[in-house]
Amino acid sequence: MAMNVKPVPALDDEVNEIRLGTAEIVNQDILPVEDKLWGWMASGNPRKDVVEEAKQLRHEVQNKVKTAKLWAPHLPTEFGGMGLSFMQHAYMNEVLAYSPGAASLFGVVAPNSGNQKILVKYGTPEQHEKWLKPLTEGRMQSAFSMTEPDNAGSDPRSLQTRAVLDGDEWVINGHKWFTSNGHAADFYIVMCRTADPDDPGGLNEKMTQIIVPQKTKGVNIVRGVPVWGKASSHCEIIYDNVRVPKENQLGRTGTGHQAAQDRLGAGRVYHCMNSVGSMWRAFDLMIDRITTREVHGGEKLEEKQFMQGFIADSYMDIQSARLMTIHCAEKMESGADPRTDISSIKVFVPQAYHRVVDRAIQVWGAAGVSGDLPLANMYQGARTLRIADGPDEVHKILIAKNILRRYHAGESWDFGN
Ligand SMILES: Cc1cc2nc3c(=O)[nH]c(=O)nc-3n(C[C@H](O)[C@H](O)[C@H](O)COP(=O)(O)OP(=O)(O)OC[C@H]3O[C@@H](n4cnc5c(N)ncnc54)[C@H](O)[C@@H]3O)c2cc1C
Repeated sequence: MAMNVKPVPALDDEVNEIRLGTAEIVNQDILPVEDKLWGWMASGNPRKDVVEEAKQLRHEVQNKVKTAKLWAPHLPTEFGGMGLSFMQHAYMNEVLAYSPGAASLFGVVAPNSGNQKILVKYGTPEQHEKWLKPLTEGRMQSAFSMTEPDNAGSDPRSLQTRAVLDGDEWVINGHKWFTSNGHAADFYIVMCRTADPDDPGGLNEKMTQIIVPQKTKGVNIVRGVPVWGKASSHCEIIYDNVRVPKENQLGRTGTGHQAAQDRLGAGRVYHCMNSVGSMWRAFDLMIDRITTREVHGGEKLEEKQFMQGFIADSYMDIQSARLMTIHCAEKMESGADPRTDISSIKVFVPQAYHRVVDRAIQVWGAAGVSGDLPLANMYQGARTLRIADGPDEVHKILIAKNILRRYHAGESWDFGN
């Protein structure tokens, strides 16, 4: 089923054109060949010609995307991207995420995309030339190395990986895991503690992000940590007396925490709009089955009230997730304090995504958990989102704290703003 994208009256012509152009490529060039592009990955041991064909197809779609000027929506034009505004990018994401995996065909591949944005903002001209340019041109891969097995990732200030200056070099020691894309990455952006924890100054000012090439002596990849029962490239890495030049640090010493917040703030809106696109697809797949599958006595599933309930519940989940995300994005754009809304979408949207995919799987029965449909992967993705980028509980605490602060200050909450 093709994605139904029409111009949105409230949006300007430029955004509508971007959305329609994106939908055209998703509908005409990606959905009909999804099996050939990545469906075969579920088979475990693909034939060489199948992998080769997929590579060729990916190349063809990417060329079409570039010709349509829809390449790299997250990057400014001077770095080969579309130069979109924040809202334009958000509205494009819900369309391209209709096909899981399509983002990579539009030049957006995590964690490279997040690293590219950090390099754009914090990198020096030399760092742009050495790391950002090859990354955007696809000549290099990267990873973001923050989470540690022995400390709570949900509290980045507890991280213990340490970098100490020795002359003109940083010397890094620490133990990380879940460094996604760790095997392929040419370099890691490593979150390090660069000041003594007992120094005066806030905890937030004691972190610095440092670029570490994978080939540096002392970088030991222990393993790819298996995820959802499968081998993965989310790597466990020990940094053992790793020496890199001082100029590999990103931004000023002590800006690492702020850089991580920058990465996550806007990123959360983009991730949520991606989830909306995936929900949209799961919804279409569910309705497709409900309107065609016959059960006991030849009745269509759509005649059953349980199924009608699924349709209504999923519709409400998607609409509320989408409108909450757009509201949050508009608040960020307007310069108002968006923290409560960012945390709210970070909790609500992955949970809604989880419920919507769960219903679609139920409707499809055994096929729902098979590798023939994208639903099983979406389900795992939705569940994982509730942990990554800050688990639900931490964001709920933040929401409650922000709200209570207002009431303690003698104000109440203004839901209109
Ligand atoms: C597939 C995948 C890819 C990832 N990729 C990367 C990556 O590329 N780079 C990277 O650095 N990290 C990555 N991560 C790690 C991710 O960011 C962390 O898992 C996340 O920040 C949570 O940290 P943690 O696993 O240490 O959980 P913990 O911080 O130990 O939290 C565990 C649980 O404790 C509960 N909890 C935590 N704090 C509180 C609290 N204050 N109150 C109540 N309950 C609480 C929550 O239920 C939480 O889920 C990835 C994770 C996954 C699953």
